This record gives sequence, C-alpha cells and structure tokens, in this order.
Amino acid sequence: MSPGCRHCGYAGRPRWANGHLAVLAALLWLVPLAFLSQGFYPFLIVPAMALTVWAAVAVRRVCPSCRRPWRP
Ligand SMILES: [Zn+2]
Repeated sequence: MSPGCRHCGYAGRPRWANGHLAVLAALLWLVPLAFLSQGFYPFLIVPAMALTVWAAVAVRRVCPSCRRPWRP
C-alpha cells in the first residue's frame, strides 16, 4: 500500500473531516456523567448519545486536496 490519495495523487497526509463533532460529543458527555456521579438523573444523555452516533458516522479521513474519502 502506497500512501497518498488514489483519486488525485495527493501525496501528503489525510485530514479529519468533522473532527469538531467528536470534540463536541466528548464535551457533551461531561454533563450527564457529572449528574450521574452526583446520583442525579443523567440529563442530556440522549443528545450525547445521538451526537456520538452522528460523530461516528460523519467523522472520517478525507483528502485535503480533492476532499474525497481517504482510501489509500
Ligand atoms: Zn485527493
């Protein structure tokens, strides 16, 4: 396997698309976990799970040159 984009021939490294979603999901988990650790109902745990699923789907590596999915 040779590194690089097989669509346009870009030879550098791929970049993460929608990486901010993963950060946001991690931050959103802090709220229900904090409530849970205090013995309260974990508010926002449903949006946190939804955002985690969304991030898992949307965050992927793409070619910074042609923006297509990164599959060397
Ligand atoms: Zn490319």
